[in-house]
Amino acid sequence: MKRFRYMKAVSVREAIGIFAAEPGAALMAGGTNLVDLMKYDVSTPTVVVDINGLPLHDITEQPDGGLRLGALVSNADVAYDPRITERYPLLSSAILAGASGQLRNMATVGGNLLQRTRCSYFYDVQVPCNKREPGSGCPAKTGLNRGHAILGASPLCIATHPSDMCVALSALDATILVEGPRGVRSIPFSEFHRLPGESPERDTTLEPGEIILAVDLPLLPPSMGYSYLKIRDRLSYAFALVSVAVLIKIDDRIIQQAHLSLGSVAHKAWRDKDAETLLVGAAPVRAVFKRIADRLLDSAIAQEQNGFKIELAHRATVRCLEQAAAGTPQSQANKRIC
Ligand SMILES: Cc1cc2nc3c(=O)[nH]c(=O)nc-3n(C[C@H](O)[C@H](O)[C@H](O)COP(=O)(O)OP(=O)(O)OC[C@H]3O[C@@H](n4cnc5c(N)ncnc54)[C@H](O)[C@@H]3O)c2cc1C
Repeated sequence: MKRFRYMKAVSVREAIGIFAAEPGAALMAGGTNLVDLMKYDVSTPTVVVDINGLPLHDITEQPDGGLRLGALVSNADVAYDPRITERYPLLSSAILAGASGQLRNMATVGGNLLQRTRCSYFYDVQVPCNKREPGSGCPAKTGLNRGHAILGASPLCIATHPSDMCVALSALDATILVEGPRGVRSIPFSEFHRLPGESPERDTTLEPGEIILAVDLPLLPPSMGYSYLKIRDRLSYAFALVSVAVLIKIDDRIIQQAHLSLGSVAHKAWRDKDAETLLVGAAPVRAVFKRIADRLLDSAIAQEQNGFKIELAHRATVRCLEQAAAGTPQSQANKRIC
């Protein structure tokens, strides 16, 4: 680990001031990803700005009936808050599918959004990686790529975004509230993370010096079915190979509304709103769900080792839609897939 200075910010303005003025600064929330990256010399900040003293620790009601999650609320506090378990059980389920109890106690809303990929080449400073060192190359293309992207990848990068929470936030149409040197702005979740394209080193559309203040959850229509299905090599403490978040509203056996997001298949949670509109007006039956899965994955491209993820994502999509439609969401306590 390289030497760095440590500072504790006491106000949002102070944090933004330091962050914007010093290009080598890194903000630290729970530290569960940043400190690992520093230990591996993947991240070498000149100054670490501890933001845990900022007033961003609350979950608050919004005038429109939604909820605002402060950037520093822990993943555990979000997952177990009664307002979340009652009104946004999809989010609670997705968070509880991730990491471990100890990690969820430390990890924060803002940190979860900005956690880096789990591509092993990104973490190994001895090898090239376009995300870590632009222009150096992508050994994953011809190397170990079993867990890598099947959608939206570029010739420069096939990394995936590993978060569970973000897949639910994508399906929920959350909004990210950020503040930077030029003021406060809201970013729709679908526009927050980027596809790699020509600049895989950039994970998000955040501007220099911007920090995350909160995530806003919109008011949902009543009685939406939901499920978060995470498929991984072990049933706990493992990142997803594929995950699916579904919200679905069904009246009189007809789908009125459906939100569907795939995780760990691309550089960002993957949503196709055109595919979702094909569900509206249809019956909630397997044949319809299979057609949607076909559509979602028709542009999927496999690398040498991850072709199985296309079939896995197809099956997980159909299964997750069935669970949500039947009102039998995937349990994160009893992880049998039923
Ligand atoms: C062993 C292990 C297993 C894991 N398994 C899973 C899993 O199964 N599913 C899953 O989703 N995640 C998993 N994680 C990742 C974990 O969820 C993240 O490490 C965590 O959410 C990061 O949050 P943090 O508050 O600790 O962020 P930090 O490590 O403090 O920060 C991460 C990044 O976010 C930036 N940042 C933090 N807060 C802000 C802010 N408010 N504004 C701007 N920038 C900010 C930091 O500068 C840094 O770049 C795992 C992690 C570990 C170590």
